[in-house]
Amino acid sequence: MSKISQLQNLKAGLTPGCQILTDTSDAKFVEYLKRWTDIDLMVPGAIVLPTSEYDSQKIVQWASKSSVPFVMKSGGHSEYSTIGSNGIIIDLSLYKGIEVDKTSGTATLKGSILTKDVATALAEAGYFTALGNGNTVGAIPYFLAGGASLTPSITGFGADQILSAHLITAKGELVNVTDETHPDLLYGLRGAGQFFGLVTELVIKCYPLHALGNDLGTIWAGAFVFPLSRAPEVTSVMKHLMDDDRHATAGLMMIMAPPPARNPCLVIATKYTGDPEQAPKAYKALYELQPIVANGASVPIQNANDAQDALGAKGDFKRFGIIGLHCFEQDSFLKTIELWKELVAECPDAINTSFNFKWDSRPAKKPGFESAMSLHDIRYFQNNLIWHTDAANRDKVDEYNSKSYAIMRNADKEADFVDFPPGRDGPVQRRYRGVERLARLKSLKREWDPTGVFTNQLLE
Ligand SMILES: Cc1cc2nc3c(=O)[nH]c(=O)nc-3n(C[C@H](O)[C@H](O)[C@H](O)COP(=O)(O)OP(=O)(O)OC[C@H]3O[C@@H](n4cnc5c(N)ncnc54)[C@H](O)[C@@H]3O)c2cc1C
Repeated sequence: MSKISQLQNLKAGLTPGCQILTDTSDAKFVEYLKRWTDIDLMVPGAIVLPTSEYDSQKIVQWASKSSVPFVMKSGGHSEYSTIGSNGIIIDLSLYKGIEVDKTSGTATLKGSILTKDVATALAEAGYFTALGNGNTVGAIPYFLAGGASLTPSITGFGADQILSAHLITAKGELVNVTDETHPDLLYGLRGAGQFFGLVTELVIKCYPLHALGNDLGTIWAGAFVFPLSRAPEVTSVMKHLMDDDRHATAGLMMIMAPPPARNPCLVIATKYTGDPEQAPKAYKALYELQPIVANGASVPIQNANDAQDALGAKGDFKRFGIIGLHCFEQDSFLKTIELWKELVAECPDAINTSFNFKWDSRPAKKPGFESAMSLHDIRYFQNNLIWHTDAANRDKVDEYNSKSYAIMRNADKEADFVDFPPGRDGPVQRRYRGVERLARLKSLKREWDPTGVFTNQLLE
């Protein structure tokens, strides 16, 4: 009998709502297997759906005792919540929750709670926190992996909000990770947290809505669209705007061909935090360029991502290609326009791909503690959305993405290259910067997961 077929023995010890799916042709199995991206998607031996922390611990204990490899899945937006037929997926979809504690200004997130659910529950209680721009992204993995937020200058990164966690270790023990019990492990969870265990609960810091700089709990969001031919003058205006910290501007400068017309253009998707009346002043230089489209409105923070909901759709070959940058090089960005044109000419199935430059005019707020998160000095990112449909073009599209990195990193020395933690390509020292930080994380990994149950990251 294969190890996985013995899974049914486990069921008796789990709460009745739990499910164990093993029939790969079953409609439920097929549905739970769907991911945001089809890149490297595999079919597991089983999908196990716990409904509580208790169940999750029992499943990890069973897998550990039976030496069955496993991965966890929350929102399913990464390329890593997938495993082959020798392993199982612990899918947390049936286990989720949030409790907001207004007295302490904290929230406890449970299981697979999604970003939008966290934002909504917090706003109803009069709060917000450092959430990102994907409504359907799993909130716990987002916080654990660093968390580039909509509000970095007010809150810092997602990882900076982590106050404590419940973690199921490689041995199947349930550990309460706090500043008092395991300060070292807390350091690791704040940015490298997907590599130490299964996090069932995360306590995070929240902020009253007025900390957004207005009494409405809103953020201003706008879009300015230009033909690509105007990129030289637009990027010269943007170079100054992105570096002007008198206004809290942020956003993405995107080279894309949006549907339905598919006309290649430069879309500047903007955010502004503070008094919404001041937003048009902050973007005055863009309005003066007379874009084809210029719109903007104040949006409740919990709805700030709703306009991009289509981005959360499952399937196709998708990936965010993200690197940190130390400055904006206008000439380099203009070269990536030519590269993007070549890409869509050679791979028409990649028409949804956009090469994007992300900025924050103000630096991220630094927390009063050290952690695995090392990107507080980075205000600029190349933030490409890779999206294509033809499997035959997989390598080619990735090559174009890598070429765009090389162009944008033109001004940097290799030793200064910065990678974004949720991606797992490239040398680990680019994601966890600093010799001391990396040594500390590697030592933590050896202590808590020496055999690589939760990936070999930090062991190599
Ligand atoms: C549309 C979109 C928008 C995004 N926006 C942002 C953004 O604004 N800012 C930002 O920083 N990132 C952003 N990301 C990246 C995203 O935060 C990470 O990829 C995140 O890890 C995805 O979490 P998930 O639960 O959706 O994915 P999953 O694939 O379910 O999980 C991601 C990883 O975490 C592991 N994992 C799952 N649950 C747990 C758990 N409970 N404990 C420990 N490990 C677990 C999985 O095994 C996997 O390795 C975005 C991604 C997408 C696709």
